Parts: sequence; structure tokens; C-alpha cells
Amino acid sequence: MSDLIKIGISACLLGEKVRYDGGHKHDRYITDTLGRYFAFVPVCPETECGLGVPREAMRLEGDPAHPRLVTNKTHVDHTARMTTWVNERIKALAAEDLCGFIFKKGSPSSGLYRVKVYNDQGYPSNSGRGLFAAAFTRWFPRIPVEEEGRLHDPELRENFIERIFALKRWRSFLDRQPTVGKLVDFHTREKLLLMAHSPKHYRSMGKRVAESKTMLPESLHAAYETLLMEALSKKATRAKQTNALMHVLGYFKKQISADEKQEVLELIENYRQKNVPLIVPVTLINHFVRKYQQSYLAAQTYLNPHPLTCDSATTAEGAGGPISMGI
Ligand code: SF4
Repeated sequence: MSDLIKIGISACLLGEKVRYDGGHKHDRYITDTLGRYFAFVPVCPETECGLGVPREAMRLEGDPAHPRLVTNKTHVDHTARMTTWVNERIKALAAEDLCGFIFKKGSPSSGLYRVKVYNDQGYPSNSGRGLFAAAFTRWFPRIPVEEEGRLHDPELRENFIERIFALKRWRSFLDRQPTVGKLVDFHTREKLLLMAHSPKHYRSMGKRVAESKTMLPESLHAAYETLLMEALSKKATRAKQTNALMHVLGYFKKQISADEKQEVLELIENYRQKNVPLIVPVTLINHFVRKYQQSYLAAQTYLNPHPLTCDSATTAEGAGGPISMGI
């Protein structure tokens, strides 16, 4: 996976001076850390739909399910202009092969969660979604999305990044003339990662794979992709991670010595009791995977975290602190 992964982003987060006041909201963690692995496709709905810089600030008004985009002081309604632009831009983005999108929080165009929508009396409720963000999530429900503010939460950030890399692996699988045999292989490699997030989804996906000869490839792949992204959006709790780690240990039964087994068990227990982060038992397990040339485990994506995890296990950087298998 040497190529940078393409993800969309609200342009002001890259430092582009496209905000209503001519400013930007450059997020250095995004450009300096994530930028080493991701190629950004910038999108600024408000400038791209033809509104200039500077421009009058806007807000959402009316029904939170179908809000209107209206300027704050002069009350010009830009909903139709924005909607027309959104429909065209979404078509162009469909060809970009995006594996994720980072939105600017709070924006009536780009905000993903809890965007203010004002009622007829002028009172706001935090119940809306920016018009472009709403359309994007409707058209691309399986693409991971996040807001820049939430990336400062280590668990949310790790989960978002994990899903981006998983979608990239899946797209790479689809690009290489997928067969039933290759799908079995893909599913096998993702097993422990899926179990750490949702054993229930892992089983449902296994059923799909087992029935794959009876389904059209397009339907099978769409169903599998939906389940894959759904599964990884479930929180990988400490209990589920512990269960996955114990599962790993099971594959070593005949090779590992009693002392080594005890060492791993102690670290798993320390992890379960929140004394050490996940990367600690995973690192020791990987040592034994190499020592005993355990090919099944060596292929597990669970034990081969994405490069951002490895990168940050040794460096504390970025506004939100290190990315790590921190739970
Ligand atoms: S929040 Fe969205 S619309 Fe506003 S400046 Fe940033 S990219 Fe443009």
C-alpha cells in the first residue's frame, strides 16, 4: 500500500483562505501528520458554488431535516444555488475513489454533526448537518467521515483512520479481479480485526462468503462492503480486544513455550486491567509470530496496524497526541 490514500477534506482545514472572512482554519495535525499518508481532495462548497471571499456569513434555518441556507443579515436564501452545485460536485467526487472525508465542524455547508438550525422565532437547535455534508453521507454511506474537532479524541481518531485503511484494502481487493477464493482470503486476513469490533458482523460476513457462489458478484461485494464498514464502526471495546488477543494465543498452542505463553497472558491481563495500551501485547505477539514463523497470524491485519499506528507508537505528535492502539 505504497500510494497515498485519497480522502476529501473541507478546504479551509488545509489552510486555504476560503472562509467568509477571508481566513482559514488550518489544522496542522491533519496536514503534517495525516498528510504523510493521505492525499487530500479539497472541497469548499461556499466558494465553489460561486459565493466570493469575503462573503456574508450564513446559517441554516427552518426544518432541521430540510434546512435552508440563508445569509445572516440580509437573509438571502442560497439553498437552490448550493443544491445545484452539490449535485454536480457529488458526481465528480464519485470518480475520485475517496476512502474518507474530514469535514469542518459547525459549518452550515460542511458541518457533519450538531450544526445549528434556527427556527422561525430565531432560536437555534444543534440538530442539523451542513448541506454538502448531508448530501455526501447520503450518496456515499460506506465512506468513513469525521469532523476535524473529533479527531482530537484518540479513540474516534483511531477508529476513523482504521476504517479508511480497511476501505482502501477492500478497494484494492476489488481492483484485482476478485474471485470467490480471493474473497475467502480477504475475509480470513480481516478475521481478528473484525472480531475485535463485532463478532456478530464477522459471522454474518462469513455466511455471505460461504454463499458467495449463489450471488451475483456485484450484490455480494456491495453486501460485504456494507457489513465491513458497519463492523469497523462498532467500538472495539477492551473486552472484545481481550477476546481477540486470547484467540490469537490459541494459534500458538503447539509452538509457544509455557514461559512465553505466560508472558503473553500477563500482558493481555495487564491490557484488560487498563495498565498498558493494546500495542504492548500486540508487539510481544508479533515478536513470537516472527520467531515461530506463524504465517496465518502474520497475515492478520489486526496484528499489522496501519502505518499511522506504528508511526505514533514511538512519537508523540499532533495536536491530539499520538495515534496508537491506545484502548
Ligand atoms: S467550512 Fe466548508 S464552506 Fe466554510 S470555508 Fe471551510 S470548506 Fe468552505
